[in-house]
This record gives sequence, C-alpha cells and structure tokens, in this order.
Amino acid sequence: MAFDKFGRNIHYLRISLTDHCNLRCLYCMPEDMTFRPNADLMQDEEVLTLVKLFTELGFDKFRLTGGEPTVRANIVEIVRQIAQTPGVNSLSMTTNGVLLGKLAEPLKQAGLQRVNISLDTLDPIRFNSLTRWGKLDQVWDGILESEKAGLTPIKINVVVVRGHNDQDVPDMARLSYEHPWQIRFIEMMPFGGNSDFQQKQVVSDAELLELIQTNLDDPRLLDNGQLDGEARIYQLPGAKGTIGFISSVTNPFCAACTRARLTSDGKLRLCLLKEKEVDLLTPLRAGASLEDLKQVIKDGIWEKPWGHDLSKGKFATNRTMSEIGG
Ligand code: SAM
Ligand code: SF4
Repeated sequence: MAFDKFGRNIHYLRISLTDHCNLRCLYCMPEDMTFRPNADLMQDEEVLTLVKLFTELGFDKFRLTGGEPTVRANIVEIVRQIAQTPGVNSLSMTTNGVLLGKLAEPLKQAGLQRVNISLDTLDPIRFNSLTRWGKLDQVWDGILESEKAGLTPIKINVVVVRGHNDQDVPDMARLSYEHPWQIRFIEMMPFGGNSDFQQKQVVSDAELLELIQTNLDDPRLLDNGQLDGEARIYQLPGAKGTIGFISSVTNPFCAACTRARLTSDGKLRLCLLKEKEVDLLTPLRAGASLEDLKQVIKDGIWEKPWGHDLSKGKFATNRTMSEIGG
C-alpha cells in the first residue's frame, strides 16, 4: 500500500491519456493551445506498465481523463487492457461526451464502468461559445448513449463561470428531477496562463446553492454531508437524481484526499494544484527496473503535499488543467 507522510492511503489514480482535445473550453485552455507531440506522451504499453505498477502498490481505483481521453487512438483497446489488469476494481472516465454517441457501447463492452460527462449549459449557443465550437446535441446524444450502455450512475460536471453560464445553474439542477444523474457543480480553479479569468469569474458553492434555493426548491443534504468522492451531495424534493458541489476553492477536501495523478507525459503529479511532480516516463524509457520504478512512486507518494493554498491566493502555474488531467 502507498501512504503519504500524513498517513493518507493513496489508492486512486487519475490518468491523463492525452493533453489533446476536440474542444477549447474557455476556463480550461486558450483557443490556440499548443499540444505535446505524440512521441512525448506515454505510449500504450507504457500506460499499461505503469498501471500494473500502481496496482502492485495497492491502487485499485482508476479514472481516465485528459485532455479528452476519447480522442486518443486505440482508446477502446487501452480501456480493455486496463480493465483486465489484476487489482483494477474501479475504472471510470471523465469526458466531454462529444464522441460517446459512438464510443459508449464499445467502451462499456471493453470494461469501462462509469462516465462523468462535462456539460455546462443546456443552451446550444452558450455551449458553443463556452467550448468555442462544441455542438450541444452531440454531447446530449453521448449522455443518452452512455446511459443506454450502462455506464452508470451518470455524473454531469458543470463548471460555473460568472457571466457565461451562471444563469443556467437552475436548469442544470432541474435535470436531476427527471434523470437519475448526479449534477455536480464545480468551482472554477486557477491554473497557469488563464488564472486571472479563472479567479475573477469563479462562483462559490454558497452562491450556487442559493441560486438553486431561490429558483427551484430547498435541496436536502444527503449522508450528513459526507463526501461522495470530492462532492457534497444534495437532493431536491421528489428528484430522481442528486446534485453535488465540488468546492475546491471555498471548501477544500484535502484532508480526505486519496488520489494522485499521472500526466499524459508520464509524470506523477501529487496534487492537482501544486507543481510538485515526479518523472516516471524518463526512467521507464531509460530501462529502470520495475522494482526501482515502484520505489520511485512510493517515495513520491510519501511526499504528497498536505493540500493546496488557493485560500492564500497561491496556485500552480506550470501546467493547464488539461495537461495535468482534471
Ligand atoms: N475533456 C474531459 C472533460 O472535459 O470532461 C476531461 C478533462 S477536463 C480537464 C476534466 C474536468 O475538469 C472537466 O469536468 C472540466 O469541466 C474541468 N475543468 C477544466 N478546467 C477547469 C478549471 N479551471 N476549474 C475547474 N474545473 C475545470
Ligand atoms: Fe477539452 Fe475537457 Fe478542457 Fe474542455 S475541459 S477544453 S473538453 S480538456
């Protein structure tokens, strides 16, 4: 098992399969984003070797993300191989859903268990402008196909940006009345490059809750406020689904963190919002033994920072969210 020096058992790995994306969400990356050359990204065999090493250290929960994981070549085969790796008990994906219309069923057949799909508004024009060119109906189709394929429970990630989609919060929450989905509102976080915009336009979870109370109803806090992953969960009266708040900025969940990240270029990132990373791909390519690599991972996990310092206005500037793997 892998522990950090604060006694947290770290067993959840989020893997960025690529920094590339077929959208350019305003809060995530610039329109003229430069992506890494494919040769710098972990190759399929390298991803699988690292997954195996992490399972040997007790990691049992894996999430594939990016960038956009579904644009990676061979995504179905990669999912199949990861799902078949002994020790992988939970395998999910965070995706923008654009390609799920055709990929949901093959991904499910390959062993993917669940998807979180990002959708910030139900207004096609605002969706198009927030993502810079996305088509809402493709994502909606992807959500329905995922549900049909059994990639459930479906979770919808909504990043709220003041002046862009804050007026859509009640409509997004309203989805939970009719659908057994978890609609999760995420406070926008600052990263390198785009931090000014991200800090100025953030909408706090307290404000989001108030928007829902004023426009819909009083949601009931579930599980005594215990986190489901990183989200605090509520339910509107009579709703089939739930709503969640991920309040990394105003109410961080660092004490309960069990996760580490693997960037698309093979770095172990110990905290989303801290720059500290440990290079795994270079020693793997240089022929390090698997036992040595395992020790590098263990030592890295031990040094996982306690938490982030967003409340003090400090954040990581060395990568965008899409490069780290959100
Ligand atoms: N492309 C996939 C997607 O959009 O779901 C996966 C990668 S994306 C970086 C993962 C999650 O991070 C998405 O739900 C996205 O909305 C969220 N995200 C991106 N930039 C963010 C930011 N600055 N603050 C908070 N969440 C952000
Ligand atoms: Fe792409 Fe996801 Fe970032 Fe949007 S949030 S630009 S879909 S990686």
